[in-house]
Amino acid sequence: MKILLTDKNIEELEELVLSLGEKKFRAKQILSALTQGQDISNMTALSKDFRVKLGEIADGVGVYIAEKFLSRDGTVKYLFALRDGHVVEGVLMRYKYGNTLCVSTQVGCRMGCKFCASGIGGLIRNLSAGEIIGQILAVNLDQGGTIEDRAVTNVVLMGSGEPLDNYDEVKRFLELCRDVYKISWRNLSLSTSGLADKVKKLADDGIHVTLTISLHAPFDEAREKLMPVNKAYDIKALMESARYYFNKTGRRVVFEYAMIKGVNDRREDAIKLAELLSGFPTHLNLIPLNYVKEHGALTPTSKEGIERFMASLEGMGVSVTKRRTMGSDIAGACGQLRRRYLEDKRD
Ligand code: SAH
Ligand code: SF4
Repeated sequence: MKILLTDKNIEELEELVLSLGEKKFRAKQILSALTQGQDISNMTALSKDFRVKLGEIADGVGVYIAEKFLSRDGTVKYLFALRDGHVVEGVLMRYKYGNTLCVSTQVGCRMGCKFCASGIGGLIRNLSAGEIIGQILAVNLDQGGTIEDRAVTNVVLMGSGEPLDNYDEVKRFLELCRDVYKISWRNLSLSTSGLADKVKKLADDGIHVTLTISLHAPFDEAREKLMPVNKAYDIKALMESARYYFNKTGRRVVFEYAMIKGVNDRREDAIKLAELLSGFPTHLNLIPLNYVKEHGALTPTSKEGIERFMASLEGMGVSVTKRRTMGSDIAGACGQLRRRYLEDKRD
């Protein structure tokens, strides 16, 4: 496989152009072309000869939009093709304050959560840092802008994959965002199913993004059934790592909670949740479960049920919001689009 230019930071790009007999400043030109989503053959700031030479050993963006679906609410769902033919998905959500892009960090996922479509086929492979960057570049280009134009203002690592199961490449991605692509960590969120040791490592490595923890149940017994990862890191260990992250970074920790009928939406769940989330700055996002047919036994809590749950949490002083399900008419939930794509291909 050829080198992927988006995997490289500025020093590494400089080394590369020098090794090809070009001047160092070409690296900056390459970067500027990459941020505009240009492939090597279109990098007209470079000489034709150099483009040919570079193209022989390297790919530019390396992530292509294979399919695109527009939802009634303005959400755009993307299916990205990678260089080896695997696909991952992303979602662009429009908010009043800007556009948030949800990107994938792995092809598939090995965590096996019982409500999630991404984990159904297991883990195929990790994405490289550049392949995660490439999803942002491809969408920026598709939306007619560059990173400077801020077609994508916020990025969340909430597509397929467990980011902390691909720690090194995700860390490198975050560093490339900050140092090369000028996406501030303030505008980046990382969502994890709860690899507590890696949460602490993130804090120790000085990575100060918004940490989102997929909690989904306040009792170990229920959480273990939904999320096998809870057997390795139980709720106590997870909450301790969240506190640690806050203490080191000063960033409020966000918790995601998909509401599942009869599983995690009882009054005792609310009471336990309120207890877990007290004592340090936290915020809770309630999301109606997105129904995934392969996980048919799990169904969403009703709208009224969610309102009731939310009111009781508010009554106990929890900072809580209900998140809209964006683009549910286009298989908006994590992993559903890829599954549909793979199924269609099989037929
Ligand atoms: N692996 C990471 C990030 C990707 S999943 C994690 O688990 O946090 C992104 C979010 O979508 C997680 O909060 C996950 O729990 C949630 N999710 C997955 N399937 C869902 C479904 N069917 N309905 C609602 N939320 C879902
Ligand atoms: Fe993986 Fe997250 Fe889906 Fe769990 S919810 S299977 S960790 S992508």
